[in-house]
Amino acid sequence: MIDALPPLREIIRRHGLIARKSLGQNFLLDLNLTGRIARAAGPLEGVTVLEIGPGPGGLTRALLAQGAARIIAVERDDRAIAALGEIAAHYPDRLHVVGGDALKFDIAPWLGKGPVRVVANLPYNIATPLLVSWLSAEPWPPWYDRLVLMFQREVAERIAAKPGSKTYGRLSVLAGWRTQAKILFDIAPSAFVPPPKVTSSLVQLIPRANPPPCDRKALERVTEAAFGQRRKMLRQSLRQLGIDPIPLLEKAGLDPTARAEDIAVEGFVALAREIT
Ligand code: SAM
Repeated sequence: MIDALPPLREIIRRHGLIARKSLGQNFLLDLNLTGRIARAAGPLEGVTVLEIGPGPGGLTRALLAQGAARIIAVERDDRAIAALGEIAAHYPDRLHVVGGDALKFDIAPWLGKGPVRVVANLPYNIATPLLVSWLSAEPWPPWYDRLVLMFQREVAERIAAKPGSKTYGRLSVLAGWRTQAKILFDIAPSAFVPPPKVTSSLVQLIPRANPPPCDRKALERVTEAAFGQRRKMLRQSLRQLGIDPIPLLEKAGLDPTARAEDIAVEGFVALAREIT
């Protein structure tokens, strides 16, 4: 028992919260696991947590029990919002449930009261667009001090990949440019209700205070061209940019015969600067 609230299964039954695939609903009901995820989010005293998709509130309860000062929970399923009311009443003024689509949520009005951390078992259908929006935050350093997020393992591997690996790609460069990303641990499908088809991984991303300066859109253009034809040499794939790739690569100090997956983040940043 982490609190005096009813068991999650009872809350789910009472609110008719049968998981919907269209909402990416795979719930975590194991308190050991939700506790482990909350602990992985680091000390939470004084921290405001943004949780996307709290669902029946298993992780939410673990985060509150772990000492989060305040949770802003964005959820689009009305059944879940009703279920979360009980938790909000149990922790007065600490849980604020915002109904709606997380992709349209604006954090700005909630800022200014100490550090903000994003902790979530993300709905898989919008996990990557949400991450890209957080990595694209302006100004930088961003409004959050850390992202602790659950993804399908395959996506987690792409986020944390290093040059030279098959999973290294556009997402790895964007994440590696602005943050230090690492996989904390894996979670088996059997831990979820209902179980998804694939293993999940918890990923931690810590913003870099001073990422090498470059225009994010230019960086995306460069990685899109390079990884769009990842088997080709850069002197070929970068033609996509409509600029002669040879002088471009020379100015960026890169080997024209290298392939996208061999280039470190700094190399892509140098290219982005040259095309800006
Ligand atoms: N956090 C809960 C847990 O760990 O048991 C539920 C996680 S479940 C993978 C994803 C949650 O995101 C669901 O509750 C779902 O209703 C919610 N969701 C799906 N799409 C959403 C969206 N666009 N905006 C906000 N919440 C969304």
